[in-house]
Amino acid sequence: MANYYNKDLYKILEVNFNATDEEIKAAYKRLVLKYHPDVAGVNANESKFKEVQEAYEILKNKDFRKKYDILHGFFAEKIKKEYETINQSKKNKYEEFIKQAKANANNSESFSKSINDALENLFHAQKTSRNRQEQKVPVNGENINLDMTISCFEAINGTSRKVNILHTQPCPNCEGRKFINGSNCSMCNGTGQLSMQKKINVKIPKGITQGAKVRVKKEGNKGINGGKDGDLFLIINIEKNKYYDIEGMNIICTLPITPFEAVLGAEIPLYIMKETINVKIPPMTSSGQKLRITGQGLYNKSKTKKGDIIINISIQLPENLTEKEKDLYKRLQTMSADDIRKNMRDAAK
Ligand SMILES: [Zn+2]
Repeated sequence: MANYYNKDLYKILEVNFNATDEEIKAAYKRLVLKYHPDVAGVNANESKFKEVQEAYEILKNKDFRKKYDILHGFFAEKIKKEYETINQSKKNKYEEFIKQAKANANNSESFSKSINDALENLFHAQKTSRNRQEQKVPVNGENINLDMTISCFEAINGTSRKVNILHTQPCPNCEGRKFINGSNCSMCNGTGQLSMQKKINVKIPKGITQGAKVRVKKEGNKGINGGKDGDLFLIINIEKNKYYDIEGMNIICTLPITPFEAVLGAEIPLYIMKETINVKIPPMTSSGQKLRITGQGLYNKSKTKKGDIIINISIQLPENLTEKEKDLYKRLQTMSADDIRKNMRDAAK
């Protein structure tokens, strides 16, 4: 093998030193057809054929090829970007081990040792410089903010949501180093980062208020060089509807009641929590009147105080009145003696 380490194997196989395994194999096949005594006819060249065969024996073997590359400086060329960051004394030492390896080419044991020493020196040099770098610049992962709209009912009672988050993290293949054996990492295309989509289940606690932030620890972007992982923040937007709204710690309800409930009073179930609350409507309640149920709203941040339920009364007519009902209203109209707009007229004077 020793003499083959002294030849230009890539030249023999007519490939570039960066050739892939497939390219080397293809070149070998082509050259076998070109020179093989049995198939090449008049162009057959047995010594060339042997040379090609032995070059291929070395270059097809990852370990042999690496050793060959180290001896001939191709290895440093292949990891050029990383190699350039290594300090001169380490480089000198590396060259020293390679000289030794060349001198020991006939003794496979000491040859291998020299190659391993060269590699260890190089990778150790890289490793420590990388470690130093890591200690110098730990970069914390950024927080991710996501808007989340929930209903009033969910805000009051709590809910849970599946959230799709897209966060970046150091590439697991090259561990954020961007290169593997001197070429761009194929997994991250040499960016050192990967975008990962993740589905997580987030619990929204009950009694959450508008604009509140739900923090999910460590679900933000991943830290680099030992930096902390960011957090995920869900910024809560509460969607009000016709009947329910939330203002601070208070739950605001619009409660439709009929004219006769307004006059006579009633006890009406209010669907607000998972259980219902019975609301007493006093007799002679007007539209726009507010009822307040204290201490039944949402907690404040420190959970020391609860807001109220504020009920806005809205007198609404049934959609379909029968003739009989209309007759009764007519009778009420003729019977009514109260002038409800007297105060309004007085105010206009
Ligand atoms: Zn990578």
